Amino acid sequence: MTINILNTSTIEKIAAGEVIENPRSIVKELVENSIDASATNIKVSLKSGGIEEIIVSDNGSGIDDNSIILAFERHATSKILSFDDLYSSYYFGFRGEALASIKACSKVTVSTKTIDRDLGTKVQFNELDIKKSEIAMNKGTVIQVTNLFYNTPVRKKFLSSENVEASKVSELLKELAIGNNISIEYYLDDKLIFKTFKDSTIEQKMIQLISKNLEGHIISFEMQNELYNVKAYISDNTFFRANRKNQYIYVNNRIIDSKDISISIEKAYSSIIPNGKFPSFVLFISTEANNLDVNIHPNKKNISFSNFEQLLEDLYISTKNSLKPDDLFIHTPDGK
Ligand code: ADP
Ligand code: MG
Repeated sequence: MTINILNTSTIEKIAAGEVIENPRSIVKELVENSIDASATNIKVSLKSGGIEEIIVSDNGSGIDDNSIILAFERHATSKILSFDDLYSSYYFGFRGEALASIKACSKVTVSTKTIDRDLGTKVQFNELDIKKSEIAMNKGTVIQVTNLFYNTPVRKKFLSSENVEASKVSELLKELAIGNNISIEYYLDDKLIFKTFKDSTIEQKMIQLISKNLEGHIISFEMQNELYNVKAYISDNTFFRANRKNQYIYVNNRIIDSKDISISIEKAYSSIIPNGKFPSFVLFISTEANNLDVNIHPNKKNISFSNFEQLLEDLYISTKNSLKPDDLFIHTPDGK
């Protein structure tokens, strides 16, 4: 694997706003790196909501011994080379900024071993001091991040409570666990919060991560039009929530936010679940990258679609057809 330096125009397009905001943003970058490195088992542990410590370990490819320090330099990446490739790339990473940014705002130790080595390498970054040593470990990478924002107290003040920071991480890990075929273990202060399994079905993941009450109440369907392919898993009329928190929309395997898509799906439920309640669903939309416009910051989860009105209409119709009344338990006002 070779590591390249991005061209200036690409850097300028994406540099703005690229910041580490909170433990969630660190975990996101580290876990996405693990997935990019073909890891199938990823373990995330936080202490004090991640403010004191974050550890992400994976069984991925590891980092070549002679590239470790370079990997923590700004704009060093072994992945895609242009912004426009974002939604066509098989990789999450593309900026070569994450590790450098994390290193700039915390204390970082990386331990990593590639398959061709007997021993791993451990590198501790502490201000300008870099310590390198050998370590016995399995193939993969362990990154430990401590003392978040120790050198920028003002940013530290903007963090929420430990519980709120931890629940943002939990939501993120659910999104990643549903969207990728990997096992994710999540620990908070040494307590296991959840573990998902590689090769479990989307239905199993929804039951595990959203609610046990979804068991037997998930309907799946597929839909195609000229531009889009959609695989959908939707809750039936017996399961609804007070908010949209458990609606997951992926485009080419990246999670996005789209209130318009949510509303089109919800419209199909209008006569079968109470007003003001929301279904849960997982949608995987796939399309050619040139049908998407990503001229906004990639960490903001909004994108625009070609022929969007048609997609919304087709989603509404397919959802409505999948929620056929005879297949559903019908609520009556007196509960019979
Ligand atoms: P990017 O992901 O955009 O390439 P990062 O700063 O996140 O930039 O990572 C820099 C490089 O470090 C990656 O391109 C990859 O080569 C290497 N790397 C980072 N994390 C891992 C990991 N967990 N396993 C293997 N290689 C990694
Ligand atoms: Mg990355």
